[in-house]
Amino acid sequence: FDMFVLAFVERLFRPTFRKDDFVLGKKLGEGSFGVVYRVTLAKKPSSKEGDLVLKKATEYGAVEIWMNERVRRACANSCADFVYGFLERSTKKTPEYWLIWRFEGDATLADLLQSRDFPYNVETLILGEVQDLPKGLERENKIIQTIIRQLLFALDGLHSTGIVHRDIKPQNIIFSEGSRTFKIIDLGAATDLRVGINYIPKEFLLDPRYAAPEQYIMSTQTPSAPSAPVATALSPVLWQLNLPDRFDIYSTGLIFLQMAFPGLRSDNSLIQFNRQLKRCDYDLVARRKTAEPRCGAELRRGFELLDLVGGIGWELLTSMVRYKARQRLSAKAALAHPYFDKESLLALSIMQ
Ligand code: ADP
Ligand code: MG
Repeated sequence: FDMFVLAFVERLFRPTFRKDDFVLGKKLGEGSFGVVYRVTLAKKPSSKEGDLVLKKATEYGAVEIWMNERVRRACANSCADFVYGFLERSTKKTPEYWLIWRFEGDATLADLLQSRDFPYNVETLILGEVQDLPKGLERENKIIQTIIRQLLFALDGLHSTGIVHRDIKPQNIIFSEGSRTFKIIDLGAATDLRVGINYIPKEFLLDPRYAAPEQYIMSTQTPSAPSAPVATALSPVLWQLNLPDRFDIYSTGLIFLQMAFPGLRSDNSLIQFNRQLKRCDYDLVARRKTAEPRCGAELRRGFELLDLVGGIGWELLTSMVRYKARQRLSAKAALAHPYFDKESLLALSIMQ
């Protein structure tokens, strides 16, 4: 009841918007379920407050608004800052959902990964200046550690709220210039297991490049969405049984791999890697044994990076990319992994 009153009061004092309040700018993205634009407020075109992002979404927009409202109240720092969402039906026959966020910054992790300068381009963004330390494996490892840690921190927030994202990939991770941290975006495929929203997995929404091997996020013994009150009573148990959050952990592990191995950063090479991994039953250790003896300098360098400090990075990676969901670490457990010991992180200023 308290939560309800709070949500209501909060909603009452938040600004509300309608279609005509926005001036459309550059198109930022276009998926199967919506188009994303940079927009400004007609009344405050040049203020920081007016620097926004709009997603015009199809039928899944309703779920995405719901997820963003929940994240705002429960784990605001995990995701891009959500401003407002509404149903817009003035011109078109089919209803359209409009979702508004603060503009967080120009670069997604996908953009940053494509640069030859990665991970040093990220170091500059996080610290705002270039360090004097010599470039090399150890420094790169610290930057990658910091990125993974920020990702796991955001995921832990979502998972603790009962939300599984299901579409964790570099394209859905934005660098927030304001907080100098990475945040998660695009809750269009997310599921909230505590209230049963978007409970039925829409496999067709899942990106095969980053999806964990389990096809269904919940076991097939729970085939349909229970009604909301039942789901509230049941889902903590289902969560324990099925560990649906580990789906996101697998995707995060693949991003870790892409950061360590430049050769895995293109779509094609990732798809090919997934095929090879499947062929050895998703056993990363076995895959390494086959690949390492005849690998080139670049691949060897990636292994060297993961082998630093007694192979602690490799240990964490192999605890995230595993066939069985229950053998993968949770986001919280991963954050407590020795890989993230304080003295080895990029800078104390980024410790949250
Ligand atoms: P889609 O359904 O098209 O994948 P996303 O929510 O992932 O929609 O947004 C598409 C793109 O728009 C992102 O990859 C990112 O470049 C940009 N974008 C989305 N939200 C923000 C934001 N809050 N700030 C800055 N850019 C954003
Ligand atoms: Mg996206």
